[in-house]
Amino acid sequence: MTHYTTAPGVAAALAGFTLPEKLGFGLVLAPVMYSVEYADGRWGRGALLPYGPIEIAPGARALHYGELVFEGMKAYRAGTPWPNLFRPLDNCRRFALSAERLAMPAVPEALFLEGVDAVAGAMADFVPTGGGKSLYLRPFLYGTEAGYLLRNSTTFRFMVIANPVESYASGPMKVAIERFDVRAAVGGVGVAKASANYAASLRASSASIARGYTVALWLDAAEHRYIQELSGMNVFAVIGGELHTPSLDGAILPGITRDSLIALARHLGHTVIERPMLIDELLEQIRSGACTEVFACGTAAIVAPIGVLGDTDGREYVPAQVDVVAKQWREALLAIQERRVPDPFGWTRDVARPAAG
Ligand SMILES: *Cc1c(COP(=O)(O)O)cnc(C)c1O
Repeated sequence: MTHYTTAPGVAAALAGFTLPEKLGFGLVLAPVMYSVEYADGRWGRGALLPYGPIEIAPGARALHYGELVFEGMKAYRAGTPWPNLFRPLDNCRRFALSAERLAMPAVPEALFLEGVDAVAGAMADFVPTGGGKSLYLRPFLYGTEAGYLLRNSTTFRFMVIANPVESYASGPMKVAIERFDVRAAVGGVGVAKASANYAASLRASSASIARGYTVALWLDAAEHRYIQELSGMNVFAVIGGELHTPSLDGAILPGITRDSLIALARHLGHTVIERPMLIDELLEQIRSGACTEVFACGTAAIVAPIGVLGDTDGREYVPAQVDVVAKQWREALLAIQERRVPDPFGWTRDVARPAAG
């Protein structure tokens, strides 16, 4: 296994870095990044580099055809002096599935971990501690070959960038039900963490923000009746004290936070029901009080409360509770992620220590 190189500017970039007081989410950039290129059917040698602009051919397929997949994951350093990752092999597996859906070469597990560990290891002293703070890691893979012929690139680049972040908490979200645009259809790329899905979601996302909402809630492509998810988070509802979430329908992104929440809740004896969920039924259950709470989950926010669901006819649906059940699960999951409690699932894993020299 080739070991990655470290560019001469890396030490200076790290030495000149200090963690600002205010981190936000994505506002602060890690001063280093990882890069490795693919050509002639194989991966080259990885490199840890100072963070900075990259060159890309203006005709690259990543730019024109959306040949790009990514991941989002976190390193925590609350319970222990050395940072740990949360379910990195699951991110790696999903990354490979995303690449496969776009017919891109998978990044081998060892290379994926090398990139993530190189950045997280270099940033170990700057992984913010406590209070849900973490180092957010963004691995991504894109096609670098220029050309309009409709096929994949033959050359690719895998990179990892990172941001020290605060917990992504900006109060309860206002969700705008999207009844016209479609994010993802069964058979499409919704199940892949592909930039193309975000392209499909941007018009509704921007329109919902312009209307004073936080994010769009997507419905199924065929009938526009079943709840899929938010643009970047999965959805849960508390109905009769049980957790209900849309079953993975072939278009919903299989969130690792969603999976963790289901596993943890069942482990603790709670009932979790994965099923097709009709939007109009849920709205009626919110109105009648049968549904007491709605929340979303994803790596960035972990578990985020939803305060209101707004329909296209202007009607708003306000669940009786906000951030009661959601808070309980956010804290339970974060405690495992931060290694403050035992991890019965073996989900956390130390960031690899950088090799000496
Ligand atoms: C990343 C993502 C999620 C959440 O997945 P996690 O693995 O929990 O971070 C949900 N929906 C979409 C569309 C996403 O891209």
